[in-house]
Amino acid sequence: MAEARTRQIVIAGAGIAGLTAALAFAVRGYPVRVFERASRLDEVGAGIQLSPNATGILDRLGVLPGLRPAAVRPDAVVLRDASNLAELGRVQLGAAAEWRWKAPYLTAHRADLQSALLAHVAREPGIELVTGATVRDATQHPLGVAVSVEIAGRISQITGMLLIGADGVWSETRRLVGGAAKSRFSGQVAWRRTIRAESPAGSSLAGIGIGGVVTAFLAPGFHMVAYPVRAGAALNLAAFTRGNAMAETWSGRMDTKVLKNAMRRAAPALQKLADDAGEWLVWPLHTVPPAGPWTAPGGIALIGDAAHAMTPFAAQGAAMAIEDAETLAGHVLAQPGSIAEALAAWEKERRKRVEHVTRRGSFNRMAWHAAGPVAMARNAILRMRTPEKLATSLDWLYGWKPPALKL
Ligand SMILES: Cc1cc2nc3c(=O)[nH]c(=O)nc-3n(C[C@H](O)[C@H](O)[C@H](O)COP(=O)(O)OP(=O)(O)OC[C@H]3O[C@@H](n4cnc5c(N)ncnc54)[C@H](O)[C@@H]3O)c2cc1C
Repeated sequence: MAEARTRQIVIAGAGIAGLTAALAFAVRGYPVRVFERASRLDEVGAGIQLSPNATGILDRLGVLPGLRPAAVRPDAVVLRDASNLAELGRVQLGAAAEWRWKAPYLTAHRADLQSALLAHVAREPGIELVTGATVRDATQHPLGVAVSVEIAGRISQITGMLLIGADGVWSETRRLVGGAAKSRFSGQVAWRRTIRAESPAGSSLAGIGIGGVVTAFLAPGFHMVAYPVRAGAALNLAAFTRGNAMAETWSGRMDTKVLKNAMRRAAPALQKLADDAGEWLVWPLHTVPPAGPWTAPGGIALIGDAAHAMTPFAAQGAAMAIEDAETLAGHVLAQPGSIAEALAAWEKERRKRVEHVTRRGSFNRMAWHAAGPVAMARNAILRMRTPEKLATSLDWLYGWKPPALKL
């Protein structure tokens, strides 16, 4: 009797992309095995903005109720001139976002998002999560994919219908997809810090009116984003400057002179944060051009940062990973007879959207870091735009729904 093709889904990486993919396939009845290189799933102290295009999916997968108590639903995104703290523009969030885009805009500590995803994964009998397990290689054959996984120095062969490479910007699985793009340093670094809302630095920020909202302070060659996390008990700060390539890690260190120099034209209350916020962690921003390819017809798909890591200037990298995961599961279910066709259709559909979002991030960087007459023109345009008009310009991004949610 001919051997049957397995329905097992093998996932490399238990980040936001991998865990969401595990849930998206499990709810559709596929057995899933997730292999994560780290022996413990620790998240560094940083925040994440989750826009409605992502929270709608997390809600459908049942993750949102576990996240909401620790998350914050900010009232607005506010753009301010860093030099004088004047408001330049505002997009209403809160109930207005939920009404407009049919899902909430949330900010959260990454550890809280990870806990909510992991708690849900643990409740799902169809998912096995193995930590301390590195996906090393895979070969495609007519009945599926044979994946080599290294656990405690020994290689095991795991057979799957599909290998999902969700192993981040420095992906090992990317090379398994012929001709895939390479990651490169963007020339920018992110400075990250989570502070207690009640700390002196937190109180001085509250004094400049950032309570309950996402604020982006704009300056030539620099911007800083501040928003509440941990049910409002903490504030996440992320500052973006030019910088040098450094160790590939979430938690590097760099001399704060670089940050202070980038903030030299900011209002004194902001400049003080460079010292008052405590020890900043520095993350080099690497990107992967979205031109792809992201799939191999025998049964390999790259998702999230492994496929198309983008700069965080549109705050959409994790949202794209979540969209990738949900839509990939939908396409595979819709084409049970041909994994090659399912992957080709998924990649075609996703490419257009991911490229659009990547371009939006590049545009934001250019506009937010502008100097001189370009910055003056930006400020004038922003001041003329009503919150309603700014919200309308985001409908394509935040109002997007995967087919399963459009039904
Ligand atoms: C400063 C900053 C701010 C950001 N803010 C936002 C935001 O507000 N909103 C937003 O949507 N996005 C944001 N992003 C982007 C977002 O963080 C990323 O896009 C997202 O975390 C990518 O998730 P991932 O699961 O694809 O990759 P990762 O989170 O990198 O996960 C990959 C996982 O794979 C594991 N792994 C690696 N290699 C292997 C292997 N060979 N075998 C097994 N496991 C392996 C790793 O240990 C890791 O756990 C931001 C990014 C930065 C840098």
